[in-house]
Amino acid sequence: RANEAGLEPPISRSAAAFLREQAVVPGGSMRHASWFPPHPPYAARGEGCWIVDIDGRRILDCANNFFSLVHGHAFPPIVEALTAAISRGTAFGLPTEGEIALAEALAARNPNLAQTRFCNSGTEALLAAVKGARGASGRHRVAKFEGCYHGSYDHMEVSLESTPENWDDAEGNPACVPYAKGTPPAVLADTVVLPYADADRCAAILRKHGPTLAAIVLDPHASKAGMVAMPAEVVAVVQEACARDGILLIVDEVVNFRLGFGGISPAFGLRPDFVTLGKIIGGGLPVGAVSGPASAMAVFDHAKGKPKVALGGTFSANPLTMAAGLASLTHYDAAAVARLNALGDALRTRVNAGFAAAGAAARLGGMGSLFRLHLGARKVVDYRSARPLPAEAAALPRIHAAMLAAGVLLTPNCSGALSTPMTEAEIALIADRLVQSTLATEV
Ligand code: PLP
Repeated sequence: RANEAGLEPPISRSAAAFLREQAVVPGGSMRHASWFPPHPPYAARGEGCWIVDIDGRRILDCANNFFSLVHGHAFPPIVEALTAAISRGTAFGLPTEGEIALAEALAARNPNLAQTRFCNSGTEALLAAVKGARGASGRHRVAKFEGCYHGSYDHMEVSLESTPENWDDAEGNPACVPYAKGTPPAVLADTVVLPYADADRCAAILRKHGPTLAAIVLDPHASKAGMVAMPAEVVAVVQEACARDGILLIVDEVVNFRLGFGGISPAFGLRPDFVTLGKIIGGGLPVGAVSGPASAMAVFDHAKGKPKVALGGTFSANPLTMAAGLASLTHYDAAAVARLNALGDALRTRVNAGFAAAGAAARLGGMGSLFRLHLGARKVVDYRSARPLPAEAAALPRIHAAMLAAGVLLTPNCSGALSTPMTEAEIALIADRLVQSTLATEV
């Protein structure tokens, strides 16, 4: 009202939308992982690697809907596939040829993804894979790595943001720390937490708990664990424990599938029983999937009598998602993967050269088309070393805000994902602005 009376300068349309949303949505935004003060810009539309907000500002999008948009926004082949699919109807409660085609496309990329069942989110995929491992093993406990995000399913949502005050248990192992208030004690008792970069400790924990575990869940290039590669020694310890104790290995590729034509497991020599997928395989529509060799996926086989584990859902393998996902993967062939990964390497080289020239204690890490900014001079190897110190934690939101003011959207912790519409020109723009924004921010 003050505005209408001309008493204050007009506020932006995004600010007004945020005020309006706060009345009907707790916290004033559905996107809690991309909320930042005073409020995010509200998106109106997307064009390739650009978002146009409701105030008409063009923003270069490096957040790409939590890294799920490998082709950016309104990618013409996806729009065409969706337009054709939607005119045929949106959901049938019957199988469609679209789900066969997308499952075949995954199998053609990696023989270990021979069979697939689709669901609607990465969270659901993790939940289903863990249930599958329980059904197959007859055990119910699971192990996961400290600081690794696998969606918001109870057993995976522990030890995400533990702090020095609570991160060790009495034996000096990573403690199982609840993230959500109200996490049932049984969840904590049934979840074993492993260190991301300490093979000896990992081996000792698995020797103790291995025979009780249905599954070990891992992401070998986990964002919260610093977007650094899990050491080969840890991978070997995990594979060994799985073979020794009959534990199923679940590799979470919801984010990292984009890094290789057949996903990320081959590069790490991982031999998963289940691979959880999501994000880019849905072409921008809600998606999740569990894939694996036929021997492991048999636990979900409902054609041969009652399934050991049911994996279905009202909107699973939705025809629109299947059409968009197939277009997304078809246009993300081996050459496109290699090109996008090379653009990521070029970005890191350019930014790190800028930091080095200025003598700044900062580094752009990550792999392929995924990147994350680290402040400080210490070596990042896991969640604990990646966790920003207090001064860094205060500086990152300011760098994020400076980037947004300069027209580049990162995630609030200053990580990002590239998309295929980007060229060297966008890489240069992101790099130059990231170097400037970081150097201009006091840590
Ligand atoms: N696994 C990883 C590694 C993720 O990063 C995410 C989401 O960001 C998930 C699982 C959960 O996926 P969704 O948000 O689709 O539930």
